[in-house]
Amino acid sequence: MPVEDALSRILAHAETAVSPEHCPLIDALGRVLAVDLVAPLAVPGADNSAMDGFALRAAEAGSGPLPVSQRVPAGHRPTPLAPGSAARIFTGAVIPEGADAVVMQEDCDIEDDSVRVRGDVGVGQHIRKRGQDIHEGDTILTAGRRLRPQDLGLAASVGLSEVLVYRTLRVAILSTGDELVEPGRGVAAPGQLYNSNRFTLAGLLKSLGAEVIDGGIVRDDPAATTDALARAADAADLIITSGGVSVGEEDHVKAAVQSLGALDLWKLAIKPGKPLAFGRVGETPFLGLPGNPSSVFVTFCLVARPLLLALQGASDIAPVTARARAGFTVNRAGTRQEYLRATVTSDDGGMTVSAFSNQSSGVLSSVSRSNALAVIPPGTTVAEGDTVEVLLLDLLTG
Ligand code: AMP
Ligand code: MG
Repeated sequence: MPVEDALSRILAHAETAVSPEHCPLIDALGRVLAVDLVAPLAVPGADNSAMDGFALRAAEAGSGPLPVSQRVPAGHRPTPLAPGSAARIFTGAVIPEGADAVVMQEDCDIEDDSVRVRGDVGVGQHIRKRGQDIHEGDTILTAGRRLRPQDLGLAASVGLSEVLVYRTLRVAILSTGDELVEPGRGVAAPGQLYNSNRFTLAGLLKSLGAEVIDGGIVRDDPAATTDALARAADAADLIITSGGVSVGEEDHVKAAVQSLGALDLWKLAIKPGKPLAFGRVGETPFLGLPGNPSSVFVTFCLVARPLLLALQGASDIAPVTARARAGFTVNRAGTRQEYLRATVTSDDGGMTVSAFSNQSSGVLSSVSRSNALAVIPPGTTVAEGDTVEVLLLDLLTG
């Protein structure tokens, strides 16, 4: 199954799983807005100066020295401008009534208590108009927006100190496999390996603003698997497992999920990361990722991330893609869509992408060294210099 088809089937079941709650704006980074934010006022609230200089009537600027009739620092209220005078004004300060231009101080000769203007003065120059950023009643942010630092600043600029956001999604992770050893809890004997997926998954989930409920290692045993899944379903809004979804005799996740709810198992037409399971444990959505560390990473980015964002109530869930010049070749066309671990570098003409030579799904070091995935559609070869699609990892893991 192409990954797009799997994803649209999954998203068809993914409605916002969490209720709205009030949150102080300062704590709302990464949270998803539950309602549109409407500006209760205009920003800026009054015409103000874009420069340090003098506010005056443009028509009076050339008529000789103008007495300085008042001084207006930012944050202070001006009085109406006396005819035939100028006001000393500073950046951000409100334009006095009657003034229609600001002359920057570099274009003025200041003599005692008067000012002479050099050059022409246009009506409106160096004045920031009331509402030039935001009009009263404007929708400044829409429901479903995952709040970024600049969004928090924007909300604060209209005076908001609290926002209605969706509750944080609780995601249980289970690492299946008899071969796994938890780092710090024993030494991996020959044939055993440390549980790396737990750390990759916990990091990915936290970077997306989810709360991680760590179910630890689950042994390859039907009762242990059923038990762990049932407990996870009670505690979490979403369950994600790694491993145990192939069709081997030691793969117990499929049967356990079926016994507790429902499950679809797909062979995704992607590389790395073939087997993928989706279903529910009781009423809790369940996503079963492959076991291989790089497959976990890729399937998380392609499938789990959009699912998670949808359950969190986010509206912008499709990854942003870019195009880059291939600095590598693919001589044999594959039957599955390949996601090559790669690095992109910028140069004068755009971006060049280089793929790592070892793309084995068990190799995690190249995932760690990469900053992008190069997407190679099935049936495609690539020559050096061809344009290929890339997914930038910084945009997927946060
Ligand atoms: P499975 O799908 O359970 O057969 O897992 C496939 C392979 O992925 C296993 O043979 C392990 O080498 C590897 N693997 C599974 N789970 C983990 C894990 N939690 N951390 C690191 N590697 C894993
Ligand atoms: Mg296994």
